[in-house]
Formats: sequence, C-alpha cells, structure tokens
Amino acid sequence: MKSYRKELWFNVPTRRAFINITPQVEEAVRESGIREGLVLVNAMHITASVFINDDEAGLHQDYERWLEQLAPHEPTSQYLHNRTGEDNADAHLKRQIMGREVVVAITNGRLDFGPWEQIFYGEFDGRRRKRVLIKIIGE
Ligand code: ZN
Repeated sequence: MKSYRKELWFNVPTRRAFINITPQVEEAVRESGIREGLVLVNAMHITASVFINDDEAGLHQDYERWLEQLAPHEPTSQYLHNRTGEDNADAHLKRQIMGREVVVAITNGRLDFGPWEQIFYGEFDGRRRKRVLIKIIGE
C-alpha cells in the first residue's frame, strides 16, 4: 500500500467563505500516483470545515444565511466561549454543523464522485493562515 500526505494553506481575507478545493484534491491524487484507494480531506482547525456539496452560488448564500440563523456572529457576548477573549464561538458551532472532513473513493486514478459532488473548504473565522490535510492511501 502507498500513502501520500499534503497540506493546503489558506489565508482567507474575509471572516467567512466557501472555496472549491476539488482541483487541489485532484492534483494531490495525481501526485500520489494512487489508482485505487481513498482520499481523506480534513480541516486542521476547529473553526473551519471541509464538506461536499454543489458548486452553486445560491446554495452557498443559503448556507451562509442558515448558519447565521443557527449561530449568529453578533452579539459576541451571547457565547460563553467568547469569555476567553475570543470572538469566534459562532465559528466553532458553524464548523460542527458543516463537518470536519470528507472521504472520497479513488477509482482508476480519479475521484469517484456522484454527478454534482464538489469538495469545499468552509472558512468561519478567516483572516489568518489555516490548513487542510489531504491523506491518500491505496495502490
Ligand atoms: Zn475559539
């Protein structure tokens, strides 16, 4: 069995954003040389997510609105976590809903997706350097 590890770095200029990272994951699969296996993609920070869904701008605005209804950023004083001096309690909650990681099958050297599946990095507390881990195993 072969394995391959790669980190993707982000420095999102806004507090929140959704970024399609499918091309970077496909590149990592090519670099790995693995034809049959699995790829794990996970956010390495507890205020960011990796998830799979449609690359459709309206849906991304719906996520933003829905997440802000569930866990509004303001007022920051409503969250116990922010008593630590941080202001990112909402980002921790949004991350929990949107998930930490995805696993995708690799078949014949390619991501074995359903018809509309794309991989996204979800940033909920940006404006600093953060990482995503890609780990690929197989042969
Ligand atoms: Zn925090």
